[in-house]
This record gives sequence, C-alpha cells and structure tokens, in this order.
Amino acid sequence: MAESKSSFSLERHPLDLHFRVVTLTAREEVAPNYVRVRLEGDDLYGFASPGSDDHMRLFFPDEMPDTVEELRAAPSREYTPLVWAENWLEVEFAVHGGEGVASVWAANAPIGSKIGVGGPRGSAVITGTPGSWFLAGDETAIPAIRRFAALIENQPARIVIEVRGSEDEIPLDAPVTVEWAHRGDAPAGSALISFIDGVTDTPGDDPFVFIAAEQQIVKPGRALLGRWGVDPKQAVVKGYWKRDEPEYHAPH
Ligand SMILES: Cc1cc2nc3c(=O)[nH]c(=O)nc-3n(C[C@H](O)[C@H](O)[C@H](O)COP(=O)(O)OP(=O)(O)OC[C@H]3O[C@@H](n4cnc5c(N)ncnc54)[C@H](O)[C@@H]3O)c2cc1C
Repeated sequence: MAESKSSFSLERHPLDLHFRVVTLTAREEVAPNYVRVRLEGDDLYGFASPGSDDHMRLFFPDEMPDTVEELRAAPSREYTPLVWAENWLEVEFAVHGGEGVASVWAANAPIGSKIGVGGPRGSAVITGTPGSWFLAGDETAIPAIRRFAALIENQPARIVIEVRGSEDEIPLDAPVTVEWAHRGDAPAGSALISFIDGVTDTPGDDPFVFIAAEQQIVKPGRALLGRWGVDPKQAVVKGYWKRDEPEYHAPH
C-alpha cells in the first residue's frame, strides 16, 4: 500500500500564532474576477508559511482596534499566503458574486486600508518527493496550486482548474500545461466534479493529490483517492467554501 512504500509524507508543523496589522498598498486585476493585493507592514517580520496550502485568517474590522481581542472579534475569512518577504505579503482573492466581506474588501478597499492577519498557526509540509502530482481546484485554490506547482521538478503532473470561461483563465507558472474546466453558467464545482469523476489513470506513480473547491468536491475527491489507492493522510481534499454559507469554516 502507498503508505509504507511512498517516497514522501505530509508532515504537520505547529507554528506560533501571531496577529499582525497590515496596510493595503497595491491591487492588480489578474483576471476579470480575480485580484492580487499587496499588504505591507513591519508586523510581517518573521512571517512564515512553510506549507503550500497553509491558510491564515484575515480580519476585516471597520476601524483598526487597539487590542488583539477586539481584532479577533472582527469578521474574518481564510486565505492562502502566496508570496512574502520581510515586510510585505501578497494574497490573491476570487472576487465572487456572493457579496462576502473579504471579496468586497479585496475588490474595493481604498489603498491605505488596514486589515489584520492571524496565523498561519500550522502547516502540512511535503517531506520527500512525490512520484507524481495531481493538483485540482477552483479559483480559491489557485494560490495553493501555484505554490505546489513550484515544487514540481520533472515528475509527471496534471493541474486542473475550474473557472467560469476562457476569459477567467489565469496565467500560472507550471511545468505542465494547465487543463481548464469551464463551468459556464452551471453551479460552481460542477465542471471539476465531472472531470474528477471521469479521471481514470494516475499521472504517475506515488502521486501527491491536492483537491480544493466548493465543499461538494470532497465526496468525488475522496472517491478518486479510493480509486487510486492513495492514503488520505498523504493527500489534501478540502472544501474551501460552501455554497450559500457565509463564513464557512473548513474542517482542518
Ligand atoms: C484553507 C483555505 C484557504 C483559502 N484560500 C483562499 C485564497 O487564497 N483565495 C481565495 O479567493 N479564497 C480562498 N479561500 C476561500 C475563502 O475563504 C472563501 O471563499 C470565503 O468564504 C470568502 O469570504 P467572503 O467574505 O468573500 O464570502 P462569505 O461571506 O464567506 O460568503 C458570502 C456568500 O458568498 C459565497 N461564496 C464564498 N466564496 C465563494 C466563491 N469563491 N465563489 C462563489 N461564491 C462564494 C458563500 O457561499 C456565501 O453565500 C480559502 C479557504 C480555505 C478553507
């Protein structure tokens, strides 16, 4: 079974929990409904995110409070750190039509706005080298997929991303051609679920599998692991948001 013979494992590392205040300094429209923002602040010194699908909690207070307790009471949502250095951090947001606090902030907040960053408080880090890669998700998973794709060397890989249509495809550095699944006006997740239900062969031996999208992806994603004989402890299959449910808390 893959577990004993596998050339890699997912190792969990706890991280000290820090809360930081950052300022929005730039916004780039990467695609019609997808923005990258740059957050800056000296609080970011020491920021660490060793795992490609790490998440942090972004806090959106109306006005920046004086205490961490008050900051933690503000509305918050989970996002993936994309790139960072000493005093800056970039994050990509799917700007969806659901009017959520995070999506509306990412699209509209004036440059100079302040938000809070909590975490990441733990990481799952790939240790060793997978024999192959299967990375799949919707817009919300693109930052994590970008980070995993940077780890691919010359192993066989497939990267599949669901977006509404060709105008929503997003430039992505990867050693293989990204396969885009277009949902058109069908519900989010439906094109990716069809794709995953139809996949037969693994990309190669001993695959690392990452699948994240609207919560209904979890069942077909787990079924794929079962078909491929992949140990769920060696893989990530996660709902990153849930239809009609604001402030969804993904089980970790
Ligand atoms: C581990 C993890 C990492 C994540 N990383 C990222 C990331 O890097 N970038 C990113 O964009 N998202 C990411 N997400 C997803 C993000 O946290 C959710 O989409 C979140 O609900 C957005 O918050 P909001 O305030 O905009 O909307 P909410 O207030 O949470 O929701 C408002 C309404 O919009 C709907 N909705 C929420 N998200 C979407 C969506 N993507 N498409 C369509 N409808 C939606 C909800 O069902 C609800 O009806 C991540 C989630 C997890 C669990």
